[in-house]
Amino acid sequence: MPMVFDRIAILGVGLIGASIARAAREYGAANTIALYDANPDVRERARELGLGEVFDDAEKAVASAELVVLAVPVGAMGAAASACSRGLRIGAIVTDVGSVKQAVVEAIAEALPAYVYLVPGHPLAGTEHSGPDAGFATLFHNRWQILTPLPGQTDAYAAAVDQLEHFWRALGSNVERMDAQRHDVVLAVVSHLPHLIAFNIVAMAEDLENVTESEVVKYSASGFRDFTRIAASDPTMWRDVFLNNRDAVLEVLGRFSEDLAALQRAIRWGEGDTLYDLFDRARRMRREVIDAGQDSPAPNWGRDEPSS
Ligand code: NAP
Repeated sequence: MPMVFDRIAILGVGLIGASIARAAREYGAANTIALYDANPDVRERARELGLGEVFDDAEKAVASAELVVLAVPVGAMGAAASACSRGLRIGAIVTDVGSVKQAVVEAIAEALPAYVYLVPGHPLAGTEHSGPDAGFATLFHNRWQILTPLPGQTDAYAAAVDQLEHFWRALGSNVERMDAQRHDVVLAVVSHLPHLIAFNIVAMAEDLENVTESEVVKYSASGFRDFTRIAASDPTMWRDVFLNNRDAVLEVLGRFSEDLAALQRAIRWGEGDTLYDLFDRARRMRREVIDAGQDSPAPNWGRDEPSS
């Protein structure tokens, strides 16, 4: 695969930023990789890990980069764009990896000069770990990268979107384009609400007075532990997601609460058929996820110990 960019800059060297740096190097998608993080300890660690050329200043990091990737928490995107804006070269492509699109696009667009191409994006890839040590080159393999290009743009902008798509494909992603509003609703369903439920169940189990915490942990393989993996995700990241995708999350949460109340009623009144039909539908959805190559078909997620 030919080199996509000669020089890229990544602001924010956590799980996602470090993974992009490693993948871009490993798959030859960029010749030179410049890095900046607001946290001096992270900059130091990025140097030790040899992730790229690490700068102590955001403007210097982006100077002469053809592609600038903002890989900071959603709530810090505007600040990161402001910090580097005066260093951006004319015609640079600026993208982000934020898990929310509409609010992030507004925050970034305000901070950028008119002579760069803003092409927002979101890799649907991650783990519950954070920081530069958590990054790995294969994170984006066979995972979706969603680009949310701005509407009503020029041919030059369209070429910038194509080039960014080419970059993500070089990193192993499948790429899809959609508008920012649709992205935020879809992600509220497939990611934000499941995380909210997991955070809530795990916190609730901790609070329950009639079950000791040791019993919750001891018997966690019954299902609870799979929620704990999701609930172990970074609190800063998820606080920012919910504060910035409020409308879509509240809409989906409203629907979820209604359906949960219907389930509660079915249990109370012994409506076995209602319960069976819903569980059967849910089980079919699991098969669709496996058929789409989004999870392992092995029993118990491919773990080698039995589930209960
Ligand atoms: P992370 O591991 O916490 O890394 C973010 C890094 O950005 C931290 O080192 C942070 O420093 C630094 N930072 C904060 N504000 C900054 C600023 N203004 N300028 C430069 N650096 C700054 O986070 P992550 O998991 O890589 O997530 C980064 C982005 O990717 C988020 O927008 C998230 O929504 C998105 N995303 C995450 C996942 C996932 O599974 N984790 C998946 C897809 C997309 P401090 O630690 O000092 O704050």
